[in-house]
Amino acid sequence: MGEKAGRRRPGPLAGLLVAVVVAAGCMGGGLDQGEPEQPGPRQSGQPASPGADSTRADGTTSVAEFKQDFSDAVGIAERYWTERFRDSGKQFQPIRRVVPYTRSGEVSCGGEGLPRNNAVYCSAGDFIAYDVNWSVGAFRQVGDAFLFYLLGHEYAHGVQVRLGIRYNFTIQQELQADCMAGAYIGDNVRSGTLTLAEGDLDEFREGLLAVGDDPDQPWFAEGSHGTAEQRTDSFFRGYENSLDACGLG
Ligand SMILES: [Zn+2]
Repeated sequence: MGEKAGRRRPGPLAGLLVAVVVAAGCMGGGLDQGEPEQPGPRQSGQPASPGADSTRADGTTSVAEFKQDFSDAVGIAERYWTERFRDSGKQFQPIRRVVPYTRSGEVSCGGEGLPRNNAVYCSAGDFIAYDVNWSVGAFRQVGDAFLFYLLGHEYAHGVQVRLGIRYNFTIQQELQADCMAGAYIGDNVRSGTLTLAEGDLDEFREGLLAVGDDPDQPWFAEGSHGTAEQRTDSFFRGYENSLDACGLG
């Protein structure tokens, strides 16, 4: 699926369209729990080990712990993409900001308020925003490794914009982002930056099942991300074979 459709640099209009599509809902989901929390400053990541202490969510993960792990994931993503860009003679500009939010409309992307229960990359402002309570809920339910997937997927959208990749259908963009998230995690595991604990791969499978499209949704519909099976396939293709498997060209 992740077919690429050229490498033209998008004009302002194309950028806006991407923003609207992407902001339309990257993850979705029906989790709704946790307590409000103010956005904190973002820090550079240190080597992290998702699931090193506990492989399964036990309902005791705090918002602070989540934010720390999320910061680690961001730092690792910045380093990862900086190196990949450098490998191909390019300079990588890290995504400008990562913004937690708690209320619907609290953060806007291209003039549109972001809904709750979601995580998005907004190309209009070059930032990632996530509903912190929803994310912590997913973290508690699915497990701590899943946040690396969540961040990896959204970060991949920022990379797609930087590469100027164009798509005919949302699903191509989304499955490619899943593949890139897999490559980001897999490559960092191979390099020893991340250590997966037993059960972490199952967490990814479980999490991907939860974010798959309804089987009745047409693949070509705007906003389609792929079925659970397609998303899982794309993620593990990247996880096992790195970026070569993701059709970045
Ligand atoms: Zn997405």
